[in-house]
Amino acid sequence: NVSVVLFTSDLRLHDHPPLRAALDGSRTVVPLFVRDRAVDRAGFAAPNRLAFLADCLRDLDAGLRERGGRLVYRSGDLVDEVCKVVTETDADEVHMAGGVSAHAHRREERLRAALEGDGRRLHVHDEVVTALAPGAVTPASSDHFAVFTPYFRHWDRHHQRQVLGVPRVVRVPEDIGSERLPTRGELSGLSAGLATGGEREGRKLLTAWLRSGIHAYVDGHDDLAGDATSRLSPHLHFGTVSAVEVAHRARKAGGPGADAFVRQLAWRDFHHQVLAARPAASRKDLRTRNDLWRSPDAAAQEIEDWKEGRTGYPVVDAAMRQLRHEGWMHNRGRLLTASFLAKTLYVDWRVGAEHFLSLLVDGDIANNQLNWQWVAGTGTDSRPNRVLNPVVQGKRYDPEGAYVRRWVPELEGLGGAAVHEPWKLKGPERAAYDYPEPIVDLSEALARFKHARGRD
Ligand code: FAD
Repeated sequence: NVSVVLFTSDLRLHDHPPLRAALDGSRTVVPLFVRDRAVDRAGFAAPNRLAFLADCLRDLDAGLRERGGRLVYRSGDLVDEVCKVVTETDADEVHMAGGVSAHAHRREERLRAALEGDGRRLHVHDEVVTALAPGAVTPASSDHFAVFTPYFRHWDRHHQRQVLGVPRVVRVPEDIGSERLPTRGELSGLSAGLATGGEREGRKLLTAWLRSGIHAYVDGHDDLAGDATSRLSPHLHFGTVSAVEVAHRARKAGGPGADAFVRQLAWRDFHHQVLAARPAASRKDLRTRNDLWRSPDAAAQEIEDWKEGRTGYPVVDAAMRQLRHEGWMHNRGRLLTASFLAKTLYVDWRVGAEHFLSLLVDGDIANNQLNWQWVAGTGTDSRPNRVLNPVVQGKRYDPEGAYVRRWVPELEGLGGAAVHEPWKLKGPERAAYDYPEPIVDLSEALARFKHARGRD
């Protein structure tokens, strides 16, 4: 008998419950990835993520070949393509990881109906993409947690499943055809400093992180210039490392750094369980605030300045340029640039979320949309009206100004924290720096925001 293993956001061989279940039940398996046309049509297929994905698929194929198998790659409508492969190989079951978005739910249901109509089975596995399945812990009165702290208490106490080993042999039917795997080289418009994808790369990064980086995480995670976070987010997004394994090994590493890091992993699961329960939250405000965001037309120039990193607020500009250059941004940068767009420029968070998704290599419907909602105060933040002041943020999280000087070379000549307030320079001294004046007055912006939110 034959089983199909449909890979989605779980592009690895280690700790892979669908693959393990398929190998336990069948002599041969078809490891399949379908480039889902609907995801492309929804505008989700940004070049940076496609490039990272191409690395991941090639690495997955190489890992399978080392074990006697290979990856079958198809593109088109996901349900149609899986059904074709099932028919071609006369497979009797399909194993896949559960997803959380509305699209993932619909596609799962369509696939189930198509397979069952034909006398075959779909097995959807939990705790493949997240460390804890959405719905595994719930408050008494709801199907999901809307507040992180109580969620984390339950998450942290919940029994975590065992980490699974990597299979030694994977036998794939010989006559099943595959399209050619994509390569990063075929893509244009990539960020110059984009990370490399693939399970090997992800595991290397994880091991190095657990050996050294994690111990400095408590003190270093907010230091913009220190760049002392794990950078595992794209690997978690594509599932080249398993969230269960990362949590397990981090706990084993022990210490305050590991505790703080594991807590961040729980944020990822938290957002996934919110989205699973409230799929419309990818577009719709979780809380109604009656915000009258400035229209994108009226704020067009400021939105463009924000995207291009020329707002005149150095730490905002540095972070936005890091995003463009690397397809990744430090979490503190994401917080302060999102706050700047939503609360200082008072532009709808969806405009910012879309821009982030067009560049972020870890761009993720659950984490991106719900973090944006959190910052905009339309989501799960218990202090929805807090506004991050970019000057205060810059001085606090980039006290020496090194992050700004790295990304905003126009200001290289300005030493120390003075780099956060170039407008304080006078006359010819100011004129020496080819850098814009602030595009918005912070106190006026704050008054506008307070007035707007006062309407709630
Ligand atoms: P670390 O600090 O090393 O954290 C380890 C892991 O924990 C991360 O890889 C990530 O998977 C998870 N994590 C950490 N913080 C958060 C958080 N606040 N929410 C959810 N998971 C978290 N993260 C994404 O993975 N994809 C996104 O599209 C995304 N968009 C964001 C948009 C905004 C406006 C904000 C404020 C945050 C966003 N984040 C997103 C969360 C966070 O910024 C990134 O996960 C983090 O910066 C990734 O870097 P790291 O792997 O070095 O993180």
